[in-house]
Amino acid sequence: MYKLVPSVCSYCGTGCGVLFKVLDGKLLGTLPLKTHPVNEGKLCIKGWNLHEFVNSPLRLKAPLIRINGRFAKVTWDRAIRYTAEKFREVMSQHGPDSVGFLASAKITNEDNYLIQKFARAVVGTNNVDHCARL
Ligand code: SF4
Repeated sequence: MYKLVPSVCSYCGTGCGVLFKVLDGKLLGTLPLKTHPVNEGKLCIKGWNLHEFVNSPLRLKAPLIRINGRFAKVTWDRAIRYTAEKFREVMSQHGPDSVGFLASAKITNEDNYLIQKFARAVVGTNNVDHCARL
């Protein structure tokens, strides 16, 4: 079944309206949403290609840790434990501003909100950035 699913571009804070072209549950393409008040039917080149990372074979689907100089797939439990240990180690020596958080346009707005909240309220740093600002 073919559907057009309205959504909002996640690549930057402009918030252009898009229509995702979906066939049998698979995301095929992105169109501009003509009735959206922000972009009125226009998209920049990033917006036109918004769907591409979803089905990319290059997309990371598991956490990686560098072991003996090479990246190795690990479980989420191990990755989270490893990260927490390293954060504690660095922060105990140099304070909360010695670490930072890089969020992503390729995750949900809700996930991005949680990342900045975790950085500010739990870790105690304002060192938070996002690839949409680059
Ligand atoms: S990246 Fe382009 S299409 Fe997406 S919200 Fe920003 S300006 Fe709009």
